Amino acid sequence: MAAESAPEKMKGWAYTQEGKAVNVLQFHTDLPVPTPKDDQVLIKVIAAALNPVDAKRMLGLFRSPEPPFLIVPGYDAAGVVVKVGSQVTKFKVGDQVYGNINEHPAHPKLFGSLAEYTAVEENLLALKPNNLSFPEAASLPLAIETAYGGLEQAGFSAGKSILVLGGAGGVGTLVIQVAKHVFGASEIAATSSAKKFELLKSLGADKVIDYTKENVEDLPQKFDVVYDAVGQCERAVKAVKEGGKVVEIVGGPISPPASFYIVISNGLTLEKLKPLIEEGKVKPVIDPIGPFPFSQVVEAFAHLDTGRATGKVVVHPIA
Ligand code: NDP
Repeated sequence: MAAESAPEKMKGWAYTQEGKAVNVLQFHTDLPVPTPKDDQVLIKVIAAALNPVDAKRMLGLFRSPEPPFLIVPGYDAAGVVVKVGSQVTKFKVGDQVYGNINEHPAHPKLFGSLAEYTAVEENLLALKPNNLSFPEAASLPLAIETAYGGLEQAGFSAGKSILVLGGAGGVGTLVIQVAKHVFGASEIAATSSAKKFELLKSLGADKVIDYTKENVEDLPQKFDVVYDAVGQCERAVKAVKEGGKVVEIVGGPISPPASFYIVISNGLTLEKLKPLIEEGKVKPVIDPIGPFPFSQVVEAFAHLDTGRATGKVVVHPIA
């Protein structure tokens, strides 16, 4: 077995008060390297991805610990195992792994993935698919778990049609692919601005809708499932068939037949999807402005905050 090694201090981004990244996020060179608990592994993070929940949390969406607190943001990580807790059975030092390090988005760890090392429960991780680079792997976990879990909650199945609101975002790009290749959708429609149409078609969308010109509630066609990654419940419920389901993932008022889905991190979901990822059927979509180097995490957050990112905003290399 390879020798276990990690320094005591590490580089990373952290905030000690809530606000926008540009105002509160600071680079540190002497953060303590977390000690993995019995059921955790310590990962040397090689790539990380940002999610809107990181920015919302930084603004104070979830109650922060009493001051003085110090939070390293970041849910998605891909890296190499450098230490294992005493009860870890799935992984060994040297394994290349990836995952969403927070089981429940509203109960995140204080030390996230935007640092050189992060400690994670083994059941939240999976081995990195062989065909993916670390940045590609980091782009997937939270978004693909949200895509898969939301479709599962809606009882999506082969032969059903789906409309995806927000088809070009981190979650939407994966809802399209998972609906098609995992669940066997009969027809996929998705909204975005017109410049992203080709991407959506390449991912498997049969019909693309420019949301700046057309309202989905006015479409003559209705869908078995509407997956709303934008937060437009009122519109979504008018675009679904009688007896259909609406998946809402953005907070806000919800009316039937919509139901809210909240992602629960689970390495088993990543393992289940691994064959399709390795066959190249489900592909990571990394925003073309990135990957952002570790020195530009504030710029990466600013890009995410525009709400215009295409696929995932990735940070690489973490060093
Ligand atoms: P992104 O930041 O990746 O979404 C950006 C994309 O949204 C852009 O490509 C943009 O396309 C598109 N977009 C913006 N406005 C519209 C619109 N009106 N209609 C269609 N597309 C639009 O976000 P994510 O996909 O990562 O997340 C989406 C939301 O879901 C966030 O609010 C996030 O917090 C939430 N979420 C919730 C989870 C849960 O467990 N409940 C889990 C994951 C995410 P364009 O440039 O063409 O406008």
